[in-house]
Amino acid sequence: MNVLIIGASRGLGLEFVRQYRADGARVTATARDDAGLARLQQLGARALKLDVVQAASVSGLAWLIDGERFDVIVINAGVFSARTQGLQPPTEADFDLVMRTNVLGPMRLLPQVAEALAPGARVAVLSSLMGSIAQRSNASAWLYRASKAAVNSVMKDAAQVLAGQATVVSLHPGWVRTDMGGEGADLAVDTSVADMRRLLAGLTPADSGGFFNHDGQRLPW
Ligand code: NDP
Repeated sequence: MNVLIIGASRGLGLEFVRQYRADGARVTATARDDAGLARLQQLGARALKLDVVQAASVSGLAWLIDGERFDVIVINAGVFSARTQGLQPPTEADFDLVMRTNVLGPMRLLPQVAEALAPGARVAVLSSLMGSIAQRSNASAWLYRASKAAVNSVMKDAAQVLAGQATVVSLHPGWVRTDMGGEGADLAVDTSVADMRRLLAGLTPADSGGFFNHDGQRLPW
C-alpha cells in the first residue's frame, strides 16, 4: 500500500505515519520544518517539505511526488482558532490563518491529489464535529467551526468531481490528546488513528461524500 499524509510533523498526522509504517506501507509525508522532517525520516517515511498556506509550496507537490500513485491520501494539516465568546469577531490575522490553512489548503491540494490517485484510492480530510451545523450545542470558536463546515463542503464537491476515481470523505477524529486537543481530551492519539485507518480500509465507493466519526458512524452535516 502507498500512503500520503499531508501535515504530519506531530499529533494525528505523525501517528498516521507511525501506524502505516508499522504495517509495512510505503509512506510519503509532509512537514514544514526540519524537526518535523527528521521525525518522519526516523519512521522510515519519505519526507517532503510542504506548507499548505504557501501556494508555491503546494504547487511544488506534484513535482516532488513525481508521478507516484497513492492508495490512501490524508489531508491532516489544520489549525485551531482562538476561542471566542458569543458573537465576538475574529481578528483578521486569525481569520486569514484559520481559513487559509483549513479551507484554502485543501482546495489547493485536491487538484494535485486528483493527479496522484491509485485505482480505488481513498482521500480523507481531517475535519471536525465542531464543523457540523446540524449538531451544535454552543458557539465557542465559531471561526474554527466555520472553517470545518467550509472544508466539509469542499470535500463534498471533491467527491462529485472524483466520482469513479476515489472515495472522498471528511473525518472527525474524536476529541484527541494532541497539542490541539489538549491533555484533558477523551481519546489517545493511537486509538483515534487506529479507528480512522480501519474506517478508511472499509470504505466503499458508496461512502464517498460522507462525513464520518472516527468509529465509522455517519455524522450530520
Ligand atoms: P496538532 O495541532 O497537534 O497538529 C497540527 C498539524 O498540522 C501539525 O503537524 C502542523 O504542523 C500541521 N500544520 C498546521 N499548519 C500547517 C501548514 N500551514 N502547513 C502544513 N502543516 C500544517 O493537531 P491535531 O493532530 O490534533 O489535529 C490534526 C487535524 O485533526 C487538524 O486538522 C484538526 O483540526 C483535526 N481535529 C483534531 C481534533 C483533536 O481533538 N485533536 C478534533 C477534531 C479535529 P507544524 O508542526 O509545522 O505546526
